[in-house]
Amino acid sequence: MFKKIIVISLTLGLLLGGSIAQATPIQNSVIEVQAKAKIKLNVTKKTIDKGKTYTLKVSGTSKKVKWSSSNKSVATVSSKGKVTAKKAGTTTISAKVSGKTLKCKITVKNPITRQKIVVIDAGHQAKGNNAKEPIGPGAKEKKAKVTTGTTGKWTKKKESEINLAVAKKLRKELEKRGYKVIMVRTKQNVNISNKERADIANKAKADVFIRLHCDGSNNKRVNGAHTIAPTSKNKYVPKKAKSSSQKLAQSIISSFCKKTKAKNRKVSYRDDMSGINWCKVPVTIIEMGFMSNKDEDKKLATSAYQTKCASGKGHCKDYPYIS
Ligand SMILES: [Zn+2]
Repeated sequence: MFKKIIVISLTLGLLLGGSIAQATPIQNSVIEVQAKAKIKLNVTKKTIDKGKTYTLKVSGTSKKVKWSSSNKSVATVSSKGKVTAKKAGTTTISAKVSGKTLKCKITVKNPITRQKIVVIDAGHQAKGNNAKEPIGPGAKEKKAKVTTGTTGKWTKKKESEINLAVAKKLRKELEKRGYKVIMVRTKQNVNISNKERADIANKAKADVFIRLHCDGSNNKRVNGAHTIAPTSKNKYVPKKAKSSSQKLAQSIISSFCKKTKAKNRKVSYRDDMSGINWCKVPVTIIEMGFMSNKDEDKKLATSAYQTKCASGKGHCKDYPYIS
C-alpha cells in the first residue's frame, strides 16, 4: 500500500515536474506579448478632411514616440502625433516606440461642400407695376412694386431685355462653374415686385443674389458701371448680409470693369432700394452701363458684350467672405 502511494506520487511528481518545466517558457512569452500588446495607438484607421488635424495617441508607455508619415504630401505628423491633412489620398503614420512600430492608415478626403447658390434677378419686366409696396420690412415709405426700366436712347431696346439676356448668359457661366442657379425670371412677361424678388433669394438661402440692371441719365456723356450695396446703417438688412453685400458689390464692380473695360464708377451705398432692403442674403445690384450713352447703349445690345458682362470673375469666383 505504502509503496503504491510513493510510486503514484513519483509519477505525479514526474508528470507535474515535466509539465511545469514545459510550461514556464510559454508563460513567459505570453507575459511578454501581453506587455507589448498594451502599447498601442488609439486608432489604426482614420479619415480626416483636408485642412483638418487629428492627434494620434500611444498608450501603454511613457517612452518617447518617434512619428513619421509615409506620404507627407497627403498628411504630416508632428513630434507629438498631431496629424495635419494636406491633400486627398492615403498615408501611413508610423509610431516607433520601445522597439515596436505601430501603424495608422490615414485617409484624407476633400470636405463635402454645399453647392453654392446664386440667385439672378434680371431687373424689371416687360411692363412695370405701379402698385406700391413698403421699401423694407416695417418701412412706412413705399415705392412702386417694379418699374419698366430705361430704354436705349439709340437702340430703343428695353433695359429689361438687356438684363434678361445677360442673366441667361450669367446662368450658363455659373452653372458651368458648378453653382446652383435660380432665376427670378426667364421671360419678359412676368409680374414680380422687387420685394418678391428678394423673397425668392431669401427662400433659396442664396449665397449671392445678383440683380442685373442698366442705367439711364439725362447727360448722354455719362458712362460706366457701378454696383449698389446697403450702407452700414441700413435698418432693414441683417448685419451679416449687410457687410457681405458690401464686399460682394466691391468684388463684382472691380472684376466687371476689368472684363468689360467699362469705366469703374465704384460702389454706391444706398438704403432706398426695396429689392435690397427686403434681403436677408448677400445682395448687390450691378448697373452695367448707361443706355443714355451712345457707345454703351450700342455695346450693351450686342451678344458679344453681354457675354463679357456675364463672365467677369467676380460673378463666378468663390466668394471667400461668405460662409
Ligand atoms: Zn434698372
